[in-house]
Amino acid sequence: MTERKVRVRFAPSPTGPLHIGGVRTALYNYLYARKHGGELIFRIEDTDTTRFVPGAEEYIIESFKWLGIKFDEGVSFGGNHGPYRQSERRDIYKKYVDVLLQNGKAYIAFDTPEELDAKRKEVENFQYDASTRQQMRNSLTLSKEEVDALIESGHQYVVRFKIEPGRDVEVDDIIRGKVVINSSVLDDKVLYKSADQLPTYHLANIVDDHLMEVSHVIRGEEWLPSAPLHVLLYEAFGWTDTMPRFAHLPLLLKPIGNGKLSKRDGDKLGFPVFPLEWHDPKTGDISSGYREKGYVPEAVVNFLALLGWNPGEDHSEMMTLDELVEHFDLSKCSKNGAKFDYVKAAWFNHQYLIQHPDSDWVPAFDQVLRAQGIEATAEQMTEVVRMMKTKVIEYVDGQGNKKKRNISFASDLWPLCQFFFVAPASFDREDKFIRKNWKAADAEQAGTAAEMSRFADRLAEATDWTAEGLKADIDPWVEEQQLRPWNAWRICLVGLGQGPDMYELAAFLGKEETLCRMRFAIAELG
Ligand code: GLU
Repeated sequence: MTERKVRVRFAPSPTGPLHIGGVRTALYNYLYARKHGGELIFRIEDTDTTRFVPGAEEYIIESFKWLGIKFDEGVSFGGNHGPYRQSERRDIYKKYVDVLLQNGKAYIAFDTPEELDAKRKEVENFQYDASTRQQMRNSLTLSKEEVDALIESGHQYVVRFKIEPGRDVEVDDIIRGKVVINSSVLDDKVLYKSADQLPTYHLANIVDDHLMEVSHVIRGEEWLPSAPLHVLLYEAFGWTDTMPRFAHLPLLLKPIGNGKLSKRDGDKLGFPVFPLEWHDPKTGDISSGYREKGYVPEAVVNFLALLGWNPGEDHSEMMTLDELVEHFDLSKCSKNGAKFDYVKAAWFNHQYLIQHPDSDWVPAFDQVLRAQGIEATAEQMTEVVRMMKTKVIEYVDGQGNKKKRNISFASDLWPLCQFFFVAPASFDREDKFIRKNWKAADAEQAGTAAEMSRFADRLAEATDWTAEGLKADIDPWVEEQQLRPWNAWRICLVGLGQGPDMYELAAFLGKEETLCRMRFAIAELG
């Protein structure tokens, strides 16, 4: 067989927001296309009008724009194999349905839903196939005149694929190897419905892959059961020579327990399963998105690329899109499902965020602060990020255990940085750090309050109120006075035993605020 130009497609149905598994499918198609100098097509499969959701197509396009995954042709991208929206290709499909009818590979069936239901009740495990089609109302059992008369009188019908039983159908899958299915287990799938004059997924998908010269079909494992039927359709059309090669990607699995990753896992454990926030037009429900959660697109791409594939043990997990293209190998994808490790996703985000300039955090951090009723300047926020981004926070894992992880989102900052924006209003005397570091006066010692007072008076004389200026001025004085004011000073400014370097914090707060917090703590704690 001669090498074909690589042409792959991502072909979502606009039935709602794009699931993160769909994003991974598109990403693998993208990597494969780039790797082999091929083209990536964006096709909208909207022939099931009952499941159409307004806004879904736009949502999908925006998601890829955000992620930096670029298509070469398709809906909204142009190209000369269009139109790329299946609902705009009715005439094309009709032509191919007629081809199958003419060469006896398909037939017309008039059975109403009621008739089919009745049959299902009558025959256990009823399947519309070679063993039952002779008992049904279709063009195989009716005369040509009867069929024509029924159509003419406006009876709705479907066109079914006539599957020959007892044949081993082979699907040659790049990831799974040869998958063999006996055609007897397949039913005579509906390919076309007169009611809406539209083909079903199977027919439209095959016709389009053929006409759009698709060389490889890379899609989720859930489509593997359809593949034998698709192979038979290629045969029926006489297109076997140009049939695309298949690659069915591994499932994304729940982080905990068994089974497919679902939106409920995300809700329970606090991670999004959609790239962007989604506002359901029917219910008004809002589902969280990676973008709004504070992920950077590079982190999402890097994390997703490694769910089902890896570049080998000696290679770093941190990879840009270009590096992913360079190393990607479809034949090295795993057959086994990939556990969705959401803590790892956060880890990737941390790695990328700390590489970004601190000012990149500002828009997300601004939202977090505003939600708390706080307004800060971009400069202030950038400073806080610089001081706090390498700290760790506690979280509770799926099993209820307390664990620590890096700061991975702007929202992680809030619990660690309130004191930058809000002065301590009271002090918890039972707090271990405070008990240990704030001492009352006794016969020998002046006590912490007295020391802090002296310290505040000395700070009041400082002229260069920057972190470096304060350090140069105050460190020698502290040494000379043989003081150890740091922990008590921290209590004054933070209210707790946490936070950044004290000079940096004082510089951030400014002289007035620093002294004011000190005087307040002295008065409160005594
Ligand atoms: N329209 C299908 C989907 O929603 C496409 C499956 C395929 O790639 O063949 O995923």
